Amino acid sequence: MILEWLKKDVVLGDGGMIFELERRGYVRAGPYTPEVVVEDPQVVRQLHIDFARAGADVIQACAYYAHEEKLKDIGMQGALAEINQAATRLAREVADEYGILVAGNLCNTWVYDPEDPATHAETRRQFDEQIEYQGVERTDFYIAETIEYLGEAKIALEAIQAAGQPAMITLGFKYQDKTLDGVGLEEAFKDLKDAGADIVGINCFRDPDMMLPLAARLRKAVPGYVATQPVAYHCSADRPYFQAQEIHGDPAFPLELDPFMLTRREMAAYALEAKKMGIEYIGACCGAGPHHIRAMAEALGRTVPNSRYSPQLELHPIIGSEEHIKEKDQRILAEQRGKSRRTKKKP
Ligand SMILES: [Zn+2]
Repeated sequence: MILEWLKKDVVLGDGGMIFELERRGYVRAGPYTPEVVVEDPQVVRQLHIDFARAGADVIQACAYYAHEEKLKDIGMQGALAEINQAATRLAREVADEYGILVAGNLCNTWVYDPEDPATHAETRRQFDEQIEYQGVERTDFYIAETIEYLGEAKIALEAIQAAGQPAMITLGFKYQDKTLDGVGLEEAFKDLKDAGADIVGINCFRDPDMMLPLAARLRKAVPGYVATQPVAYHCSADRPYFQAQEIHGDPAFPLELDPFMLTRREMAAYALEAKKMGIEYIGACCGAGPHHIRAMAEALGRTVPNSRYSPQLELHPIIGSEEHIKEKDQRILAEQRGKSRRTKKKP
């Protein structure tokens, strides 16, 4: 079904569940595991609803780090089945209510070592386990995300294919434009495409400005559907990924990222720019909340359930006219385009 949706129009993703839940007080920074889906499911359901009402076409099951390796860290490996199943059930319930899609979720395992074949089998076993439990509820496709090794990404792809589901494989790039196993960006995505990935893309770590130049290269290198899910935290050419930001001389990640957050207008400008580049799946990752997604949806010309609460600033007694606001939107978009042109020149 995801492939039919992509054929018709851009598919709008949701935002970063784990970071938003952490901000709201329901995920522990550090392990970043999603036991909230069984401990406080109403909170997860509400955030899914918030993203759905903001216009997301896809709800991602909140199963990031719901694999054995991470659940061990919090002593909850015994709840692996329960957590993975609850994550997809919550997503399914909300998606059905709003007529949108559910993506099952896989991510980097921290087990995979390119030099050690035994870890490849273990990685596959952990992915299979997650898919088995997530698949108890109906998923429309799977997203494998924040994977930095091509080898691990291919194992995720094989696991998703074995389950007979469409696969969206997104790689993460921090400083380099190659995978941690040393494969260049274009070559890595060609490989994934040749292996049958339905959608390939880039997610997490980088903000739109740092991600879109890489996405442009990906777009050029492979035919078929391309996805981008950047973080909503400002990065820069010398610190292209958000975990490298500093505040008062200390790392801003993970507790002091607030001043780096992109505004909704900057995320809206990203959505437009990505569409112009021919990106078909436009979403977001860490730091992106429902207000970002609604602004992105509306920038793409959509009216969404929570558009009924969209800004109507002309009713504010001080701020000014609608013309003034539209001018500001245009200015931010122009700035954004100028910036992405400048960053493209850098190697
Ligand atoms: Zn992220």
